[in-house]
Amino acid sequence: MLRLHDTATGTVRPVELRVPGTVSMYVCGPTVYDVPHLGHGRFTLVFDVLRRYLEFRGMTVRYVSNVTDIDDHIITKAAAEGRTESEVASEYEAMWWDAMDALGVKRPTETPHATEYLPDMVRLVEELVDEGIAYETADGVYLSVEQVPGYGLLAHQTLDSLRAGARVEAGEHKRSPADFALWKKAKPGEPTWDSPWGPGRPGWHTECVVMALDLLGDDFDLHGGGIDLAFPHHENERAQAVAVGRAFARHWVHNGFVEVGGEKMSKSLNNFASLTDLLARADPRAYRLLVLRAHYRSPIEVNPATVDQADSALERLDELARRFDLDGLPTSTTAELAVRDGADRQAVESFIERMDDDLDTPGALAEVFELVRLANQAADAGDVAEGRHLAQTVVVLCGALGLSLRSASVDLDDVTAALVDERDAARMRRDWRRADAIRVKLEDDGWVVEDTSDGTRLHRRAAP
Ligand SMILES: [Zn+2]
Repeated sequence: MLRLHDTATGTVRPVELRVPGTVSMYVCGPTVYDVPHLGHGRFTLVFDVLRRYLEFRGMTVRYVSNVTDIDDHIITKAAAEGRTESEVASEYEAMWWDAMDALGVKRPTETPHATEYLPDMVRLVEELVDEGIAYETADGVYLSVEQVPGYGLLAHQTLDSLRAGARVEAGEHKRSPADFALWKKAKPGEPTWDSPWGPGRPGWHTECVVMALDLLGDDFDLHGGGIDLAFPHHENERAQAVAVGRAFARHWVHNGFVEVGGEKMSKSLNNFASLTDLLARADPRAYRLLVLRAHYRSPIEVNPATVDQADSALERLDELARRFDLDGLPTSTTAELAVRDGADRQAVESFIERMDDDLDTPGALAEVFELVRLANQAADAGDVAEGRHLAQTVVVLCGALGLSLRSASVDLDDVTAALVDERDAARMRRDWRRADAIRVKLEDDGWVVEDTSDGTRLHRRAAP
């Protein structure tokens, strides 16, 4: 049985499903006003791996992840660029899905958009006002958090310390600093929706609680996101559900930060590294492998060196696929079927043991790379059948992690091969200008150009 860390209890505990065999999970999606950054890449990969693993264990997963298509950032950007909010949101949402497809992240079962849920959000806020838990002020409607039992559960802080740490923004009229906005009354020039409190728009925390409960129902299994969302976002989602007497998530799962140059990556620090940029320059599978090499709750460091290390590890997997000429596409098989079809039972069981232990992907990868070693060793000793048996198991386990292996080396035409040689020579003599010019030429021809310790490597850009 899968055990996962639960932020609410602060312990690793078994995931007890509402309905055995099916998993309902909600993961907070993007606010679409900019290119996706590395942190987005990480959380989507972590939860993609969790979802794929649950499916590998034979479960049916309903995976809901929202798109926030109205918020302050979108409004500000639209105003600055003289466009509508929906034009801004559509542009960046398209970019989001391009990046997700390149990363091999499976599309969620449902992707609700905030703007589709306005009437439901207004209804929830009304209910909270009727219950006397929310109150109207000059600038909006706020939730009085001291009336919510257990507020501070995910923050692991008392109400007093939360109150002491809370900030009140200019123009906010609320009774207590820890209270949060459910509804924001319209300022001039903003998009608005009607409500009993006049025109305005909902707060972000109201969006997710409404969508999660509408699509997954009360008492759903897992709620996930980056650790930066645990407080206040998830705390506040939970507070609204609790306040109207509805059972919310059974289990809270949060992943760690992405660090760049040793600093925590966040928008406020302004060290915004783009996922799109990384995907244009490296094999997208290398980022998945880099994420898998760390435990999901630990921070990861993303820089050219760590990407290159992941890439070398990936090359060992591809090499194995080439040696046995295996079709390395991710399989949608289950553990049970894979064993029935000839995967190594003991290896699959060891893999499951690691993954069941709070999604220990570094441990699971160690099992995979041990199999790679054994497969090569068997083939070197002349036992090709055993080597192939183990290599096929590697493909199955990588598939469970969403990692596809490439058995075919890329066929380069003569002109392209000559450009690669010329670029490597230019890099050797530190002629960066020439090396960059050739990179641009290759990219124009539809290649992803990757710099590795063995020189230039090319991949075909993923089909749009
Ligand atoms: Zn959310």
